[in-house]
Amino acid sequence: RGKRAFIAGVADDNGYGWAIAKALAAAGAEILVGTWVPALNIFETSLRRGKFDESRKLPDGSLMDIVKVYPLDAVYDSPDDVPEDVKSNKRYAGASNWTVKEVVESVRNDFGSIDILVHSLANGPEVTKPLLETSRRGYLAAISASSYSYVSLLQHFLPIMNPGGASISLTYIASERAIPGYGGGMSSAKAALESDTRVLAFEAGRKGKIRVNTISAGPLGSRAAKAIGFIEKMIEYSYVNAPLQKELLADEVGNTAAFLVSSLASAITGSTVYVDNGLNTMGLAI
Ligand code: NAD
Repeated sequence: RGKRAFIAGVADDNGYGWAIAKALAAAGAEILVGTWVPALNIFETSLRRGKFDESRKLPDGSLMDIVKVYPLDAVYDSPDDVPEDVKSNKRYAGASNWTVKEVVESVRNDFGSIDILVHSLANGPEVTKPLLETSRRGYLAAISASSYSYVSLLQHFLPIMNPGGASISLTYIASERAIPGYGGGMSSAKAALESDTRVLAFEAGRKGKIRVNTISAGPLGSRAAKAIGFIEKMIEYSYVNAPLQKELLADEVGNTAAFLVSSLASAITGSTVYVDNGLNTMGLAI
């Protein structure tokens, strides 16, 4: 039987989640995705109308098949956590069963189990503000959407993950080096995500024989990154200063993800793996 993957954080064909889905599909995995509720309609409509057909193309010429799209809002664990204004919001009221616990129940009912869990989502409402100007609310929202969302997804999926399976998330070097502009507590959220990767690798390894790693990716002009406001500058900086002077392709992160969740990486867990043309290794660049 081929492996089954659930990829949380796919809402268009530009981001890392999409590229990871494609790399896993090319390796023979069955693809399920979790799409943020407010982005669900446009994503499903675009899929249906063939807008992504060109970018669904796999190396063998076939098109990636997304077996099912689940609405998801990873800042809510169960219906009790959802505030009234969100419940009654038109976009949310139009979908159902999108809290983490309910999504996992739906996947269990539909498919029984999964082998691979991918977390490719982040959100920081105050990301454009320096940390010195970030509110408590904004900081906690960044941590909730970008770090605890992963703890919650793994916590709920682990019981239906087949032993030998694996999980990955996406992080950014602003967790360990100061990157002015990556604000709102997003740097703190990535630091938490990387620390949690080590602790969760131990716990999920012992409990379910599941490996847990995170990919520290270089800059990509995704929808989320464009919201930060200086992604073009980051891409240019990387091009000028990294050991490998080439554009970083989302597919290069996708391929690393496919490796990390495969049996080729069977002894790798708890690691932060850099896919950034080597930029992280530089001190002074000339
Ligand atoms: P993206 O826009 O493709 O992905 C982010 C996704 O998160 C979107 O689909 C969005 O709808 C979803 N999302 C936001 N809040 C959510 C919530 N509460 N519940 C469910 N989904 C939610 O952008 P991306 O840049 O590919 O981001 C994917 C991951 O890669 C993120 O963790 C990001 O921090 C990380 N990353 C990105 C870069 C970069 O330069 N783009 C660099 C390093 C790491």
